[in-house]
Amino acid sequence: MEIPEPEPGPGEVRVRVRAAAFNRLDRFTLGGIPGVAVDRPHVLGSDGAGTVDRVGDSVTDLAPGTNVLINPGLWDGSCDACRAGHEALCRNYRIVGEHTQGTATTFVVVPRRNVRALPSSMSFADGAAAPLVFQTAWRALRTIAAVRPGETVAVVGAGGGVATAVVQVAKLLGATVVVASRNPAKEPRVRSLGADAFLAIDDERPLDKQLWQWSEKRGVDVVFDSVGAPTIPRSVRALARGGRVVVIGATSGPVAEVDLRTLFWRQASIRGSTMADAREFDEVVAHLGSGRLRAVIDSELPFDRAEEAFRRFESPDLFGKIVVAGPVA
Ligand SMILES: [Zn+2]
Repeated sequence: MEIPEPEPGPGEVRVRVRAAAFNRLDRFTLGGIPGVAVDRPHVLGSDGAGTVDRVGDSVTDLAPGTNVLINPGLWDGSCDACRAGHEALCRNYRIVGEHTQGTATTFVVVPRRNVRALPSSMSFADGAAAPLVFQTAWRALRTIAAVRPGETVAVVGAGGGVATAVVQVAKLLGATVVVASRNPAKEPRVRSLGADAFLAIDDERPLDKQLWQWSEKRGVDVVFDSVGAPTIPRSVRALARGGRVVVIGATSGPVAEVDLRTLFWRQASIRGSTMADAREFDEVVAHLGSGRLRAVIDSELPFDRAEEAFRRFESPDLFGKIVVAGPVA
């Protein structure tokens, strides 16, 4: 279906998209999120990289032709949180592709402040694969869970783009990283990202028991859990004293039951995190540019095979990001 090409307004830029990446968020958008109205037809995709094609009025510091990656977080810049530099807490926070037309198309219009020069070491596919998952992982671990060097970080699940980012960020912060997954075949790839240990979990070897044993009955300092209902109670049980479970999503169900005695006796906490502040995004881009963090791409398909790319989410051997790339007709 044809959608009129968007024009950049004041303070905005138009990017010719060279690569876009899908997230689980896109699946929820496609299915409809209660309370979020989307225009139909709706273009999916929060992540993208490309070339600035036009700039709106008052944009003087970015020339057409510049290659950029897009920060999919949208904030109003005017509320109390934004003025304090806490854009992720903006009361009007939105995400490209969820609340607005997305990146999986020829042109996308975003605020100037949402684009950064694509580091020369990165391809367009890298630039599309990185922004959402790495800013999510960075804020969740560094800011919200406040991971310190020498702590243990457990990552529940191994295949999604966020998990591949979390392993790298946890290592960068100096943690010992253990990944727990129901798919043992993923161990070599997880270890290649820097994970120190891999635990296969199944009905006989549940998450909490495996982590308890691995940590020699001490518990782990931080559990990164995006699975949700089936694993949150076990993640809490696996915590050390002072431990934190950080939650960034609930792909397998939103309502969990937690034993509060474990929380207070271990002085543990469950913290939620989503997206990142503008400053945190810039820190991520710097680490991507230097190669300390790198996007993991599961598969890259041309734009006209986007539906096929999307179905890749259903594959049990998914590992990393699903990218669709130009050239666009
Ligand atoms: Zn705001």
